[in-house]
Amino acid sequence: MKYGRVYNFSAGPAMMPEEVLEEIASEMMNYRGSGMCVMEMSHRSKVFQQIIDEAQADLRKLMNIPDNYKVLFIQGGGTLQFSMVPMNLMKNGVACYVETGAWSKKAIAEAKKVGEVKIVASSADKNFSYVPDCSDLDIPDNADYVYICENETINGTTYHKLPNTKGHVLVSDQSSMFLSRPCNVSDYGLIWGGVQKNVGPAGMSIVIIREDLLRDDLGDLPVYMNYKTHADKDSLYNTPNCWAIYCCGKVFKYLLKQGGLEAMNQRNEEKAKILYDFLDASKFFTGSVRPEDRSLMNVPFVSPSKEQDAEVVAATKAAGFDNLKGHKSVGGLRASIYNAMPKEGVQALVDFLKKYEAENA
Ligand SMILES: *Cc1c(COP(=O)(O)O)cnc(C)c1O
Repeated sequence: MKYGRVYNFSAGPAMMPEEVLEEIASEMMNYRGSGMCVMEMSHRSKVFQQIIDEAQADLRKLMNIPDNYKVLFIQGGGTLQFSMVPMNLMKNGVACYVETGAWSKKAIAEAKKVGEVKIVASSADKNFSYVPDCSDLDIPDNADYVYICENETINGTTYHKLPNTKGHVLVSDQSSMFLSRPCNVSDYGLIWGGVQKNVGPAGMSIVIIREDLLRDDLGDLPVYMNYKTHADKDSLYNTPNCWAIYCCGKVFKYLLKQGGLEAMNQRNEEKAKILYDFLDASKFFTGSVRPEDRSLMNVPFVSPSKEQDAEVVAATKAAGFDNLKGHKSVGGLRASIYNAMPKEGVQALVDFLKKYEAENA
């Protein structure tokens, strides 16, 4: 790796494409003749307006976002969306949540502060190692929406088929899979993602919301918490996270250049297959997730014991593979292999683990 960089398997903040970082570095001291860095730039300037406009246009192109959806850049990271979603969408005060792991549990806890939450399916019985059947959920007629965490970053599961919401609005937390594969936006009422997993720097979420879900009757809500505030002002109600918007815009252009989301999906499938094929063949390591629900982005696995897990983590770190320790709530190891992780990184990790197994098992 150039610059002495390591293969960073962190779940987030995570790797960004090297050529994007290089381009950002080249514009650091003087962005395109403006005489300043984007970090120093007024969000009301013409030059920043162009940055945010292009970022939105490129994201729309990448995801093929229909015109009746708004794209919002909102600060506060992913966690703020756990509150903003129910505060804005719980019109009748009832929402359905699918409980698939750590992040959907956090979303549920916040929604309960706003209204009634019905857990319509859960995989808690098997430590969130699978995605429950969502083909025939018991959804009350007055439910405002059905909420899923489409890729559980900590548990390593993903939906390969969306729930049947029986005509109700689908809300999805796509934080750790955002832009990893094609997405049919019109299947959803609202999609959101914290950008530090698969796109750019931390501290911002992108919200894609169908226009009819924006409301005029939320005057009691703190102004920043209302999606309409951001929609009406094109994400420039107050000073946005200019730096994150700029970096994300670079990544959108990079993804378009790579061939868009179809191409990313193909690459991500190839990358994940290298790792899963190894885990399936290994007698020492075991994947933690039911094969049909495996994430292409976050791959949790275990060795025969906690002690050996810790030894493997230490050995990988010494060999230049960083951040492979599993989340404290699950243990074991976890390799996050987002868009920006090169295939060579996954192959190098598998080669290392193979050798480790041969020498230590
Ligand atoms: C990381 C993550 C979040 C929370 O993001 P923060 O920016 O740390 O608040 C929410 N949902 C999922 C699926 C995540 O991976």
